[in-house]
Amino acid sequence: MIKSYVTGFPRIGEKRELKRALEGLWSKKEGFSEENLLSVAKTLKNRHWQYQKDAEISAISVNDFSFYDLMLDNIVAFGAVPPRFANLSGLEQYFACARGNEKGVAMEMTKWFNTNYHYIVPELSAQTTFKLDASKILAEYEEAKAAGIKGKINLIGPITFLALSKTTDGSCALCHLDALTAQYVKLLEQISKLDGEILVQLDEPIFVTSKGDALTDKIAPVYEKLTAVASNVKIVFMTYFEHALKAVGEALKTKIYGIGLDFVYGEKNIEALPAIANSNAKLFAGVVNGRNVWKSNIDERVNFVKQIAQKLGGKDFYVGSSCSLLHVPFTLKYEEKLNPEVKSWLSFAVEKLSEIAIIAKLANGAALNENEAKIYAENKASANSRANSALIHDAAVQARVANLTKFEREEKFEDRIKIQHEVLNYGVLPTTTIGSFPQTVELRVLRQNFKKGEISEQQYNDGIKKYIDECVKFQEDVGLDVLVHGEPERNDMVEYFGEQIKGYAFSENGWVQSYGSRCVKPPLLFGDVSRPKAMTVEWISYAQSRTKKIMKGMLTGPVTILNWSFVRDDKPRADIAKQLALCIYDEIADLQDAGIKVIQVDEAAFKEGYPLRDENIGAYEKFSVDCFKLSVASARAQTQIHTHMCYSEFNDIIKTIEAMDADVISIETARSGNELLKIFKSVGYKQEVGPGIYDIHSPRVPSVDEMVAQIRALLEVLPKEQLWINPDCGLKTRKWEEVEPSLKNLVQAVKIVRNS
Ligand code: GLN
Ligand code: ZN
Repeated sequence: MIKSYVTGFPRIGEKRELKRALEGLWSKKEGFSEENLLSVAKTLKNRHWQYQKDAEISAISVNDFSFYDLMLDNIVAFGAVPPRFANLSGLEQYFACARGNEKGVAMEMTKWFNTNYHYIVPELSAQTTFKLDASKILAEYEEAKAAGIKGKINLIGPITFLALSKTTDGSCALCHLDALTAQYVKLLEQISKLDGEILVQLDEPIFVTSKGDALTDKIAPVYEKLTAVASNVKIVFMTYFEHALKAVGEALKTKIYGIGLDFVYGEKNIEALPAIANSNAKLFAGVVNGRNVWKSNIDERVNFVKQIAQKLGGKDFYVGSSCSLLHVPFTLKYEEKLNPEVKSWLSFAVEKLSEIAIIAKLANGAALNENEAKIYAENKASANSRANSALIHDAAVQARVANLTKFEREEKFEDRIKIQHEVLNYGVLPTTTIGSFPQTVELRVLRQNFKKGEISEQQYNDGIKKYIDECVKFQEDVGLDVLVHGEPERNDMVEYFGEQIKGYAFSENGWVQSYGSRCVKPPLLFGDVSRPKAMTVEWISYAQSRTKKIMKGMLTGPVTILNWSFVRDDKPRADIAKQLALCIYDEIADLQDAGIKVIQVDEAAFKEGYPLRDENIGAYEKFSVDCFKLSVASARAQTQIHTHMCYSEFNDIIKTIEAMDADVISIETARSGNELLKIFKSVGYKQEVGPGIYDIHSPRVPSVDEMVAQIRALLEVLPKEQLWINPDCGLKTRKWEEVEPSLKNLVQAVKIVRNS
């Protein structure tokens, strides 16, 4: 018998109800209160359970709801709130941890494995003691029960929790494992009193990473204790995002009820089946992609599930989502503008529930109900249309990729840079910025009015041009060397290009939680992609026409576009990447034909695409370097290619950065720019570098003296001929009041250093 489960369900609400309730409360808007938030939460939880129940999912998730983040919920449940917020309580304390208050800075946030979701990083120290407060967890179970739902309780497991923690005093986070496990034991004791039998899913995704490989010896001791607490508490050891082969054997040594493995992103997990077949544990097989938006091919999945069944030798098991559905949008129900054919290929969280249930039924040989039969028929039709649709398959694009002969620039960096210096004629320590200038309220309103059709194209263009004029004048007045147009026409660095590339679609409501109340709406790359016409040339040329100084063209790189989109799953990623690279390739060709001499290709998301397992890093690096090099291969020797990356940890990847072969790279500032650059020096990095000399993520205006000191520190490591001076990221999120004095000070600081 095959049952169904869901690893977790999104919580922000299909109309982002939670976002509105949170932000209303935070900004003390009229009509918003804690009571309102609690009531919105209640509605959402009940609705989400009902969706799962309606789809006939056997193991429905509870305690996957959170006001901000599940790691933060765990921090609170185990009494590990940092001392600076210890005097507070309740929601006030909870939100202070997440967002900071007058007295204390917010806790750090970072990406959850290789997703775009950010979790709150637990802050521990040698002094940390844990104290259980199970109220939220128990209440949520009871709440579901009252609604007629017998839930599976979701919790982050103790080993993953500690492995993702940081310490403020250099002590070891995992040293707390015994103490924390003792609190989990207490928690399970309380849970055991809630009901007859209860499933508890403990998420331990750390074991899919290479870091986790070194921690597998912790599994058996911890899970022996947890599984011994109460016989009615059935523990599922859950993993996702990759294979967990090293952990399986350890987990199976204990009396766990089940083990969750991802068969979509961890195909190797298949190798774990014989061991599971010979154990007492049940498999929870993630077979429906929980982090992409396409319909599963149900027939293909059913065959796969049958193979699993065979390998398990007739043992009962569960099928479900490959990870929490948190990483996909809610539902297609409200998508009215999507091309109907494209829409027919999609499946968001709610739709995936039925897929899971149908796959389980078909694999069992059970009959489908009327609604399921309809969904199944549509699924077959959609698989067929996807394989053949003219919207997807573009023979010309495919032929171009197949017949590529030029993969990189012809001239070597050493030769290019000489020509560039002659053409561009810049002196030492050239100054520039990363691309965007403040996105003002007027700009947002202008774009919105244009989208709504309330103003004409002429009016819109005039508004954008006016902003560009102001940016150019400002940069000339301040005395920067290489100017930018300010990106006023862009709402988002990926969406702007996606909207102009054929093969992309945009949902109206495809929001995915990024952190707290913040959501993103990644564009949908559904088909062969190409660029019908130039995307940026008009604006950049206009900007260049307003100044005699060098105007830098601004593009988003192919790796970043790929990493921040929902990407089709019916074609190898490497082919899709080449198609995207060619869109940028063509744009660069057009820009340089229009007289643009410097072009920046941003790869902000390059680092976050890194795989979870070390053995896959080489392949990713080759793939992304090739992709970037192809995208800039149209640049002539005299065209200077810049790239920008938003992080400062280069130690592991410096050779890869070098291999990208950009003429200039600008990077995020580390606490000490000097330290950051040492790695560039130690590998003999030849290309030019613009280490951000001030942090744009803070409203603070850095003084001239501070920046002089910073530049001098940089000069201790790299020669002045190799250094560019710039802020560490785009200025989009800053206010003009901050940008103006900061950039004035920056130019002033460079003058002082140049003259000394
Ligand atoms: N050119 C972009 C900007 O300035 C780069 C953004 C980024 O690095 N995230 O906004
Ligand atoms: Zn950046």
